[in-house]
Amino acid sequence: MGGSGKRARCKKAGKVCFGSHDEALKELRRIRENPDPVKNALGYMPTQVYECGSCRGWHLTFRGATKYQRRRRRQGAKAWR
Ligand SMILES: [Zn+2]
Repeated sequence: MGGSGKRARCKKAGKVCFGSHDEALKELRRIRENPDPVKNALGYMPTQVYECGSCRGWHLTFRGATKYQRRRRRQGAKAWR
């Protein structure tokens, strides 16, 4: 296969580390162009980057993860009534 192992993974977040904000944004842009494999692998679509206090790198995440899940649950509950 090859290719893997080039990027370090954060021990705390378990995510790929990017060396800079810019690098993470570039990856985000690449994902937007072809989101399906990433969505399948992660279960979500990254929309944001954040700086990790543990590895001092940058990770991808998506905005309001918990809020989004709560909202979905509430809507689902209503739909069943
Ligand atoms: Zn990290």
